[in-house]
Amino acid sequence: MSKEPILFKHLAVPDINKLGVYVENGGYEGLRKAVTDMKPEDVTKEVSDSGLRGRGGAGFPTGRKWSFIPKGVLPTYLVVNADESEPGAFKDRELMERNPHQLLEGVALSAYAIGCRLAFIYVRGEFLYIQEILDAALAEAYAGGYLGKNIFGSGYDIEIVVHRGAGAYICGEESALLDSLEGYRGFPRLRPPFPAVKGLYGQPTVINNVETLANVPHIVRHGSAWFRSYGTEKSPGTKICSISGPVQKPGNYELEMGTPFRVLLEEKAGGMLPGKTLKAYIPGGASAPMLPNRPEFIDVPITYEDYPAVGSTMGSASFILIPEDVCIIYAQLRISEFFAHESCGKCIPCREGTPWLMKTVRRIERGEGREDDLPLLLDICDNILGRSFCALGDFSTSNIVASIKYFYDEYEEHIRRRACPHISATAAVA
Ligand code: SF4
Repeated sequence: MSKEPILFKHLAVPDINKLGVYVENGGYEGLRKAVTDMKPEDVTKEVSDSGLRGRGGAGFPTGRKWSFIPKGVLPTYLVVNADESEPGAFKDRELMERNPHQLLEGVALSAYAIGCRLAFIYVRGEFLYIQEILDAALAEAYAGGYLGKNIFGSGYDIEIVVHRGAGAYICGEESALLDSLEGYRGFPRLRPPFPAVKGLYGQPTVINNVETLANVPHIVRHGSAWFRSYGTEKSPGTKICSISGPVQKPGNYELEMGTPFRVLLEEKAGGMLPGKTLKAYIPGGASAPMLPNRPEFIDVPITYEDYPAVGSTMGSASFILIPEDVCIIYAQLRISEFFAHESCGKCIPCREGTPWLMKTVRRIERGEGREDDLPLLLDICDNILGRSFCALGDFSTSNIVASIKYFYDEYEEHIRRRACPHISATAAVA
């Protein structure tokens, strides 16, 4: 990125996770400015004007989401979705691990904007060490007067509670997350009513992703026009992209929105490992349709609008690379196993359909596929897509449909030869 990074700007500063160092580098200035100088609605307007969109995957405009909170219904809650469990996604983890105060400041600012005095950070079950990092940062911020009662002498009180889930992917779905936070099994809720009207404990609630909220202090400090100087008109700002697979430098990279995927792959991640050639990639974690290695897909600008135009989705910008020597059916099997395992079981199309998809892909991969398995797979997808209670059902079909579309010959060859032509490679990966 030619411009200065926004979220990763201070990652190289030693001890930026400590309150004193964070403050020395301009930390909590946005919060101070907001609570002493701005009305809550001014903060919402600044964020709306910035064009910031939800970084969890859906891309919903953040300021608009906040504006749905009804006036005068108290208490309101802010819940941070830190249940980062999409396969291929690991950006929120790094944001929380390395610069926790940036998130806490974003939470306090956003809470102020929606009139909330008690906010929750819901971290995934496996993130015990992240919970400890956040709790340590919280303790520092309370002791320093940056959070808690009457912050900056403004009369505004804000308390933040870190809550760790029990490790279920479905709890990343915002309404299931609320159930889990209330102490129930994480099941998606029927909508309407939407969480903005009836969310946590039946009260108006905003749920935002970690990366989304980490942007807010910078927008309040520098203004919406500054934020819009990054990215594209429909996708302003930057995006933290996670890239994994056989590349030289897998990891998280902050890129200006609109940067082509090729830059991420070749410049940031250093290209493929020696001897490896890209066969396909998934741009938005396991739920986004894969794209084959063709120039028109490698040069896609990383934005909310450009990936749908080529039949996929940017999602959380979690790029999973599949090399030539890995069997696409094997890769698909891993994805189908994941969704079958994580289906919460609430609705029939997903509860019955995801294991059926998994078993059918598995038998093809094992050389036991039947002639009618490909139409069968598409038929099952047809009966899940748009007929499930939440998006997980739809997600489970994305890569089945895309892999059959782009790698039909590979599926056919497995069925015809009754064997996997990549057997040695997949055995090595397994
Ligand atoms: Fe549960 Fe799947 Fe139905 Fe979602 S689609 S409610 S995860 S069974």
